[in-house]
Order: sequence, then structure tokens, then C-alpha cells
Amino acid sequence: MHNTIAERLASAQSALGQIQSNQTVQLIAVSKTKPAADIRAAYAAGQRCFGENYVQELADKATQLADLPAIEWHFIGPIQSNKTRDIARYADVVHSIDRLKIAQRLSAQRSAQQRPLRCLLQVNVSDEASKSGVAPQDVLALAAQVAVLPNLQLVGLMAIPAPAVAGDNSQAFATMQQLSQELQRSHPQATELSMGMSDDWQQAVIHGATMIRLGSAIFGARNYVHE
Ligand SMILES: *Cc1c(COP(=O)(O)O)cnc(C)c1O
Repeated sequence: MHNTIAERLASAQSALGQIQSNQTVQLIAVSKTKPAADIRAAYAAGQRCFGENYVQELADKATQLADLPAIEWHFIGPIQSNKTRDIARYADVVHSIDRLKIAQRLSAQRSAQQRPLRCLLQVNVSDEASKSGVAPQDVLALAAQVAVLPNLQLVGLMAIPAPAVAGDNSQAFATMQQLSQELQRSHPQATELSMGMSDDWQQAVIHGATMIRLGSAIFGARNYVHE
């Protein structure tokens, strides 16, 4: 049993180290619904990148933890256009851009004093009407539009595959790997591929993930639902 956040982090890092991959893989600790104290504990154990889904939580925790000099905030949740201002202010990386309007607002609201906001395009890889994300066939067109916006830096693609038959997301991950390679032909710097969560990250890494997003594997089960 791994009881503490530090132990779960060490265990995840060690499992990650045992998977053969050609790429460097960054672990994003998804701290949604968890208190700032849990993030402090993970930071003390060496974790630097944290993922949040809700804008208000991002703003609150970034403010409470502003004393941690090397913390890096990744926004991974759905983005409503009236909520972009705090994302532009507090996030270092945004994984969930799926339309031009959102990118334009983030670009306009990101201070030129700050480092450019690193952006990933969220792809609707499982073609499910209920999920957000740009359709695979529209990725290159959106990438071309986002890449020219000031104060943003297009760094790659992200996906949340629909829960698959028998828990096997290999097909979706393979599709994403191919899309990422296509994107890199026109945007060689856009090498990041954010995919894989607590239950399927090993498959994602095998298919080229460079960022995995682990919530419950690091912080334990989430025991309340966000409203
Ligand atoms: C909640 C969430 C995660 C983490 O999920 P776990 O199954 O707890 O690892 C990863 N990515 C996104 C987009 C999420 O919303």
C-alpha cells in the first residue's frame, strides 16, 4: 500500500522509469478537488507540474501557492469563453484548446510581460458527441491559426479517449501518435503529446505520450464531485 502522496509519486515515477520509451515523459499531477496542502506535500517531494480542471480552483490554488518558486500550472479542463482571463493569468500550459475563439481570447489576455502561454490542442479522438475537442480532420487548420497568435506558443496535442471496450485505449493513442507526427511536419516545435491517466498511462507512453496526467494515482480517490 502506498499511503502518502510522496510514496505514490515515487511509485509512479519508478513505474514510468521501467517503461521503454524513446521520449522524455513528464508527469502532471492532477490536483483537481484536492487542497493546496496536498499540492505542497507533492511539491516538497519534488513534483513541479500540477493539473487543474476548474478555473476558480486554479486561481485559488495558484494564489495560495504563489510562494513555491518552480511550480508550473497546467489547465486541463473544458474552457468557457467567459473564463479565459484567469487561465491567461495563472496557467503556464493549457491542454484543452479546441476552438479558435478560445485561443484568440487567451492570446489577447495573456500579458506580454509573462512567458508565452504554452498551448496544446485537445483532439476529439473517440469522435463522441458529448466530449470536447477538435475533430481529427480539423487539427491542422486550427494549428495554423493558433500558431500565429501572439503571447501563445503551440506545443502539441492532447486527448481524453472515451472509456474503451475492455479498457483498451491503444487504438485512440495510436491515432493521436499519428496525428502528432503529421502536425510536426508543419510545426516541428509542437512535439508534446498529452495523453494517459491513472488507469491507462502505460499504453499512452508506449504510443508516444510526452505528458501523462495522473490524479487518483498520486492524490488518492477524489471524494467529492465538483459543482
Ligand atoms: C481528472 C483528469 C485526469 C486525472 O484522472 P485520474 O484518472 O484520476 O488519473 C486527467 N486528465 C483530465 C483531463 C482529467 O480531467
